[in-house]
Parts: sequence; C-alpha cells; structure tokens
Amino acid sequence: MKNRSKLLLIIGCAVIVIAAAILGGYKMYRVHEVKKCGILLAFDDYNEQNWRDHFDLFEKYNVPVTFFVTLDEPNEFCLDAVKKGHEIGCHTIGHVNVTELSDEEIKEYVIDPIEIFKEGGIEVSSFAYPYGAHTPELDELLLQHYKTVRGAYFYELHNKADLRHGYIDAYPIDNYYFETDEEFQSSIDAILQELSENEGAVTCMYSHAIDGGAWCVREDRLEYLFQKAHEMGLEFYTFQQWQNF
Ligand SMILES: [Zn+2]
Repeated sequence: MKNRSKLLLIIGCAVIVIAAAILGGYKMYRVHEVKKCGILLAFDDYNEQNWRDHFDLFEKYNVPVTFFVTLDEPNEFCLDAVKKGHEIGCHTIGHVNVTELSDEEIKEYVIDPIEIFKEGGIEVSSFAYPYGAHTPELDELLLQHYKTVRGAYFYELHNKADLRHGYIDAYPIDNYYFETDEEFQSSIDAILQELSENEGAVTCMYSHAIDGGAWCVREDRLEYLFQKAHEMGLEFYTFQQWQNF
C-alpha cells in the first residue's frame, strides 16, 4: 500500500511536470508568433465551388483563408472550410450596403447571423463591409458584436490590438486593379517588404475567387504572393488567429 501511494505520488508529479512543460512551451510559441508578421488573406461573397477547388492550393502553401460569406446560415462548405483550418467571416446576408440599412435591418442582416452561425457550429467574429461602405458610427456599433470589422480599399499595416477590437482596411488583389503582371508583382513586393520590416504587423489582402475574371485573382498571381511571402519568412493567418494571440 505504501509503495502504491509512492507510485501515485510519482505519477502525480510527472503529470504536473509534463503539463507545465506543455503550457510553458505553448506560451513561448505564442510569444514567438506575435513577433511574426502576418498576411490575412480573405475571399469575399460566395464562390463555393471555386474556393473548394483551391483547398489543395491553400494546403500546399500552408495558407489559411478567411472566407467572408453572404449566406443566411452555415452550410457544408463552412463546416468543411473550418475543418481545414480556414475561418468563416460575415459579409452580410445577401451582400447589402450596410450604410443604407435601418437599425432593424442591421440587426437582421449583420448581427443576427452571428447567433445563427453559432447554433450551426461556426464561430463568427470577423465582418467585412460589402463595397467597403462604412461609417465610424457603424464601426462602433458592429464592434459591440464583432472583434474585427474590415474595409475593402487600402493597404494598411495593423497590429494585434486592431484585430482584437477594431476596423482594419484590406488591399484588393483582383485582376481588375493590375494591368500587367509586373504591376501586380511590384505591388506585392513593396507590401511584403514593408511588412517584413515591421515586427508584429499584419495586413489584409482580398479577392473574390481564383480565376481570370476582373473581380478574381489569377492562380499564378496568387502563387507568386504565396511563394514570395514564404521566401521572406512571412506567414499567413486567419483573422481569428490574430484575435486570439
Ligand atoms: Zn463583397
């Protein structure tokens, strides 16, 4: 009996030591991560098949994506995307201009989806304004419900605090904005260069689908971004990863 208690004591101590080591390691990992620079890649609206077709591409480059969807409830795609490490954000139900909505409509199209998605097993904490249309008053209202609200026009550097509670802008990488590959590449090069010089900074880029159309980004251009970022030691994150650091 005495030996048995001794054994239990040893096991107990071992468990504590192992748990401490794991927690300590985890904390160090977090501190390490925060110093890194991050790219938040987002795709807006709803292009299920196109996005699904590129799950393998995202996996190949280890790029988690935040999909800002215009759905009224979570579906199979949302669950599959989250399972693969991506995030689902809200882009209103049906892509409405939030600045033109009444208070009741804002509740219905922008705020209620949080609860509806939650009931369907999807935690939504990021919102992107359709057409980038927003006001400071709207930001303040929506930030009572979302951790991050996102625009659609500019390249900006942000920090962890902005992601936890704030408005961030996003740089469009749709084909429409770049006449030539050189133009696209030099914009990406400049952004990544500045990002890499600012410890702990994060920036968001977005498109709608991976294709040759005006409001899409071509696959080879996206791969250029992925390769260049990896060459420079920059990582891709979901919004929630930064909200939770
Ligand atoms: Zn949109």
